[in-house]
Amino acid sequence: MADKPNMQKIKTPVAEQPPIIRARNFEEVTFGYSPEEAMHEASRCLNCKNPQCVEGCPVNIRIPEFIAKVREGKFIEAYNIIKTTNSLPAISGRVCPQERQCESRCVRGNAKDSEPVAIGRLERFCADYAMNHPEELAAAEKPQSNGHKVAIVGGGPAGLSCAGELAKRGYEVTIFEAFHTAGGVLMYGIPEFRLPKAIVKKEIDGLKAMGVNIMTDMVIGKILSVDEIMEDGYEAVFVGSGAGLPRFMGIEGEALIGVYSANEYLTRINFMKAYSDKYYTPLRYAKRVAVVGGGNVAMDAARSAKRLGAENVYIIYRRSLDELPARKEEVRHAKEEGIQFLLQCNPKSIMGNEDGFVIGIECICMEMGEPDESGRRSPIEIPNSNYILYVDTVIMAIGTSPNPLIRSTTPGIEANKRGCLVVNEETNATTKDGVYAGGDAVTGAATVILAMGAGKKAAASIDEYIKSKQ
Ligand code: FAD
Ligand code: SF4
Repeated sequence: MADKPNMQKIKTPVAEQPPIIRARNFEEVTFGYSPEEAMHEASRCLNCKNPQCVEGCPVNIRIPEFIAKVREGKFIEAYNIIKTTNSLPAISGRVCPQERQCESRCVRGNAKDSEPVAIGRLERFCADYAMNHPEELAAAEKPQSNGHKVAIVGGGPAGLSCAGELAKRGYEVTIFEAFHTAGGVLMYGIPEFRLPKAIVKKEIDGLKAMGVNIMTDMVIGKILSVDEIMEDGYEAVFVGSGAGLPRFMGIEGEALIGVYSANEYLTRINFMKAYSDKYYTPLRYAKRVAVVGGGNVAMDAARSAKRLGAENVYIIYRRSLDELPARKEEVRHAKEEGIQFLLQCNPKSIMGNEDGFVIGIECICMEMGEPDESGRRSPIEIPNSNYILYVDTVIMAIGTSPNPLIRSTTPGIEANKRGCLVVNEETNATTKDGVYAGGDAVTGAATVILAMGAGKKAAASIDEYIKSKQ
């Protein structure tokens, strides 16, 4: 290992598809580091004695340790270190908002004009390297069964990480998933150009190799209830059913033809393969599209619309650029691909023609109001600043809530007024004995890594719970 760290101020750049090309295809935008680039970037890490980056990671990846291995070219060892705390690194390396987590705490980002170590890119590199070099990995060993059965409701990141952690401890784990495939938002929400489905499938295959059983097309609350699962010999249940219920604004015109929730729009693209010429997918191939919202979901919908041939795609967001909740990289990519941002702007109504099709959206300009009691300023309308944007499709990406099915069919399980399951913060236990929950079903729409962290924490609690009953 070189003695001195490389004091290059900026992150080692990573190759990407040029915007003009990628805006017309669904292939992955970012290529990932080569081994040489990864080693070069790793040499920027100071291997801090008190690494703040680890504190910033919701699953506490041993960041300086894995980066030191990358620096030495020991990529599989680096990968194995990551895997001790993170069961899905190829995914989190790609989609985590690192700029608000590990990288926001990296000391290399503290100096003027200096960028943090590219922790996310390095994590992705290690995971991809391991996937592409299976011969270098120790053969996956199926842990010996401890004879106890646990059920997981929902195969998104929360459920998958809970399943992985329990399988490692020898539990016989079955995931009950409503869709025809596990993966949750990773499969039906986040588009292929950001997270290739082959990568998600490989991560899921890794769990299956550990003995996790996945039962698809199983809508819990309809086909079986949580109580029936428990009567079937499962000693505990983890609910990771996400927050897949889209919200609308309640404005006039939301029932017109050509108005979608982002969830529906993206699900049609991902599951019904709207991106492929070989499939006839029931989706409007629009020319002018307005996407309402400023998060990752809005960016994904806007960039997908562009790839499907839309000429003008607008993001309508009521706050300013700095307040956009989407990952910085997604905002940059969207801008480069020609997505137009209408900031400090809010929809008032959606207009249609006599046949019921969308023809436009009426918007109003916003400005920041006076601070409220908490000191926070909220956007308020500027009187008489209304204007009409002529579009043929409107996609609502203003948030989602948990689906009520589980809470309405599981006596004893409590939810708060936002419909999120109530859990003990220390253990992730719900108000029903033996039932645990985590991820978006508890927090409302959040992030992949928080869902994974919750699944992991719940697994440890379930382990203690089952042991305490023996
Ligand atoms: P989900 O991923 O929603 O998984 C829940 C699973 O439970 C689903 O498979 C669902 O089918 C299943 N299910 C639901 N009800 C039942 C039932 N009754 N019976 C059986 N199964 C059931 N986060 C990031 O960190 N970075 C990003 O870049 C990012 N981009 C996003 C883009 C989009 C388009 C969306 C929608 C979200 C994005 N997120 C992102 C958020 C992130 O994906 C979620 O926070 C995360 O997936 C939550 O994980 P989860 O396991 O709790 O729920
Ligand atoms: Fe390396 Fe930054 Fe973490 Fe320090 S804070 S160990 S420099 S990644």
